[in-house]
Amino acid sequence: MASLNWSYEGENGPEHWSKLYPIANGNNQSPIDIKTKETKHDASLKPFSVSYNPATAKEIVNVGHSFAVNFEDKDNQSVLKGGPVVGNFRLRQFHFHWGAADDHGSEHTIDGVKYSAELHIVHWNSEKYASFSEAAQKPDGLAIIGVFIKLGQANPVLQKVIGALGSIKTKGKQAPFADFDPSSLLPQSLDYWTYFGSLTHPPLHESVTWILLREPISVSADQLAQLRSLLSNSEGEKASPILHNHRLPQPLKGRAVRASFQ
Ligand SMILES: [Zn+2]
Repeated sequence: MASLNWSYEGENGPEHWSKLYPIANGNNQSPIDIKTKETKHDASLKPFSVSYNPATAKEIVNVGHSFAVNFEDKDNQSVLKGGPVVGNFRLRQFHFHWGAADDHGSEHTIDGVKYSAELHIVHWNSEKYASFSEAAQKPDGLAIIGVFIKLGQANPVLQKVIGALGSIKTKGKQAPFADFDPSSLLPQSLDYWTYFGSLTHPPLHESVTWILLREPISVSADQLAQLRSLLSNSEGEKASPILHNHRLPQPLKGRAVRASFQ
């Protein structure tokens, strides 16, 4: 299934994804709206920890609907452990979702409230699986840390990433991206909600233990504009900016959302 077959608008937009990816209507889809009154504090949920080696940062890539910073993941140099997951989950990449205007863009929402953007730090279960692509299809395969990004002050750490976008303007471009620790993007508090869900774009595999941080980080209007200036077209084609790339919240279908905090 080629990634060319879906997009964020028009006849290949999110409301049509289920034609090629029936799991789009599955029981464990993401994102969701977190209804805080319906979440349950779970005292057995321990804090999670991340230990990332900045030397594993490898490259930044324009993938057409977004961009990602990829990490070397042949061993456990950069891992997430604890919290809702068992064993080491290896860092694979991080990426962002944003909206066409500053007042929306996050995928998850909190009591219906939208943030301006959302950071996803993606990890795979290296205890049980041999690769990211194998793990991505298994219910216990992936763990993604989601960080809400709210409009406010310019974020200097985020700027290290946004500043590199000039070298990957069009789809398919990539550039080296070295010496970066994504934990520098995390907020002070690591209080989180967790639930079982999916990748938020095709192939939409239901393989993700979500770890959504309660405390947002900040982004400025100018930085959001720089995200939206990235292009979805290949070099030499008509310029088509990636104005938005977020999926709307999906039905909870009886799933439990647990909180690490009271
Ligand atoms: Zn994502």
